[in-house]
Amino acid sequence: MTSPVQSSASPSGRLLVLSGPTAVGKGTVEAALRAAHPEVWVSVSATTRAPRPGEINGVNYWFMTDDEFLAKERAGEFLETAVVHGMAHYGTPLAPVQEHLAAGVPTILEIDLQGARRVRQRAAELGLEVLFVFIAPPSFDELRRRLIGRGTETPEQQARRLETAKVELAAESEFDVTIVNATVDEAAEELWRLIAQEYGIAE
Ligand code: 5GP
Repeated sequence: MTSPVQSSASPSGRLLVLSGPTAVGKGTVEAALRAAHPEVWVSVSATTRAPRPGEINGVNYWFMTDDEFLAKERAGEFLETAVVHGMAHYGTPLAPVQEHLAAGVPTILEIDLQGARRVRQRAAELGLEVLFVFIAPPSFDELRRRLIGRGTETPEQQARRLETAKVELAAESEFDVTIVNATVDEAAEELWRLIAQEYGIAE
C-alpha cells in the first residue's frame, strides 16, 4: 500500500562482512555483484603479496611492501589484518569503510575468516554494526573440485588449503547468514537482496 520510507534515525545499513572457506568463490560472487550493482562499494584491501597479471594497484588491492604494511598497522590505519595462508599480510583500511558507511553507501568487506573474527572483536569499540555473511560451497567435494580446477596452486599448496578449508567450513555457525555459492549469479543476487533489505533500497 505505502512505499517504505527510509528511517531518519540511521541513514546507513550495517557493514557486510563476506567470508568463507578458501576457494569457495567469494571474490567471484563479489565481482558479479559489483558488475550488476555498481552502487555497492567493496573495500580495497592492502596486501604484501605480489600482484597477479592484470591486477591494478588501488583497484584490486593496495600492493605494498612488508615495511609499508607494518608501519600502517602500527599507526592504527587498519580495521583488521591477517596473515593469509601463512604467506602475506592483508588488511582493511579503516577510514574508507567509515566514510562510505557514514554516506549511506552499501559497504562490503571480502576477507578471510581470521579477519571476520577480528572485525567482530572490534565492532563495538569502533561503533560498527556488522552483518556477517558466510559464503558456503554446495559440498566439500565441490570445494575440492574448484580448488584443484583453478590450477593456481601446486599440489602441496592444494592439500594444505583443503585441510584449512575443512576447519573453515566449521565456522559457518559464527555467521548471521549463509549464502550457498551453487552458481555465481544466483549467489550474487541473493547477496544483493540482502543488501537491498539492509539499506532500504527498492529492488
Ligand atoms: P587473494 O590473495 O587470493 O586475493 O586472497 C587470499 C585471501 O585473502 C582471500 O580469502 C581473501 O578473502 C583474503 N583477504 C583479502 N583481503 C583481505 C583483508 O583485507 N583482510 C583479510 N583478513 N583477508 C583478506
